[in-house]
Amino acid sequence: MNVLLIGGGGREHALAWKLAQSPLLDTLYCAPGNAGIAETAECVSLDVGDHGAVAKFCDEKKIGLVVIGPEAPLVSGLSDDLAAQGLPVFGPSKAASALEGSKGFTKDLCTEFGIPTAAYGRFTDAASAKAYLAGQKLPIVIKADGLAAGKGVVIAERLDEAEAAIDACFDGAFGDAGAEVVVEEFLNGEEASFFALVDGETALPLATAQDHKRVDDGDLGPNTGGMGAYSPAPIMTDALCARTMDEIILPTVAAMKARGTPFKGVLYAGLMIEDGAPKLIEYNVRFGDPEAQPLMMRLKSDLLPVLLATAQGRLNGVTLDWEADAALCVVMAAKGYPGAYDKGTEIRGLERAGADPRTAIFHAGTTRDGSRIFATGGRVLGVTALGEDIATAQTRAYQAVDAIDWPGGFCRRDIGWRALKRGA
Ligand code: ATP
Repeated sequence: MNVLLIGGGGREHALAWKLAQSPLLDTLYCAPGNAGIAETAECVSLDVGDHGAVAKFCDEKKIGLVVIGPEAPLVSGLSDDLAAQGLPVFGPSKAASALEGSKGFTKDLCTEFGIPTAAYGRFTDAASAKAYLAGQKLPIVIKADGLAAGKGVVIAERLDEAEAAIDACFDGAFGDAGAEVVVEEFLNGEEASFFALVDGETALPLATAQDHKRVDDGDLGPNTGGMGAYSPAPIMTDALCARTMDEIILPTVAAMKARGTPFKGVLYAGLMIEDGAPKLIEYNVRFGDPEAQPLMMRLKSDLLPVLLATAQGRLNGVTLDWEADAALCVVMAAKGYPGAYDKGTEIRGLERAGADPRTAIFHAGTTRDGSRIFATGGRVLGVTALGEDIATAQTRAYQAVDAIDWPGGFCRRDIGWRALKRGA
């Protein structure tokens, strides 16, 4: 079977790496891909905003499955337009992508179907949002309703900060994404990510993960797309996973079906765990990046037929095999990230660093010029390793990091600290 993968980050490299191991795969195409993905897939420059052009490409190349990595093409309806041509697509419809595309939509769904989440209010003007603040405790969380690449959330410690965040949203700091604002109760606890494949009706839990969003060691400094992740998340016991399925994932799947907008794809629940109980912070409608990297390294089953079964509504009865071992990913970013960063710096030593079969170096922002690799993005590499526990996976990942010769890059040195503190 020929497969088209959409995207070009570390998440897509991990998916490409795993798909390429499938005996069912003939050719893997990736749009746009990157220098790492090009080692296992044919990278093509398709305008993914032009849904007709993508459909035409699929027809020409006899694509049997389209896998959509990032959220933007999902929210813009690429899945709907390809499915309308009869193509099996892994990735939800535009309507079902509202679970990520509108925080207010998800909060209302939680209220309607009794899904545990923080108390909140939805507002379309600054005055009413500020009036709501009066009765609330601090800190309080202010969120732009729409997609803002992780930048639309402010945790305000003081009232004036909360008011300024509300003003920034309505003054257009996030464009249309800030036309509505969600004001939300601050939840205490430990965060974890839970993933499930959903075929419209059946949900199949995947592994758990935890990520590190802040740029500096000790989870300090500004937020980023993610500086590292590991799987499993020790806080997510079997009992807590079962509760998450029963109280959060399954009611959401049933609600989306009942609304006539069934969810198909991967449902990624960002959770806050307090006193052993899960609450939903947010949904994403695609794999996490970098969480997909440790997840794909731990998955033993063939990914391709599982993604196809998800797209075709055939998940009932499907089971997955996982490595008992842990996996840990250290993100290497260009110096300056998440602010302005250097582009075009050369990276050497990747082959030597990735020589251990229990290590994989996933590319996010790279380009190749002959035999030389150059950094092109903010987050550039995901150095991922397996180990019998998080500590061993961490040691192996940092050994690979240290073998990479890239003066233009940096990484955090403490990925996995929370799990290690729990003795994982
Ligand atoms: P991202 O794209 O980075 O996942 P996002 O913009 O979709 O983020 P959220 O996940 O809703 O937004 O929030 C980002 C982060 O803010 C969360 O990972 C969490 O650390 C913090 N956060 C959000 N809501 C709350 C809350 N109610 N209580 C405490 N912390 C919160």
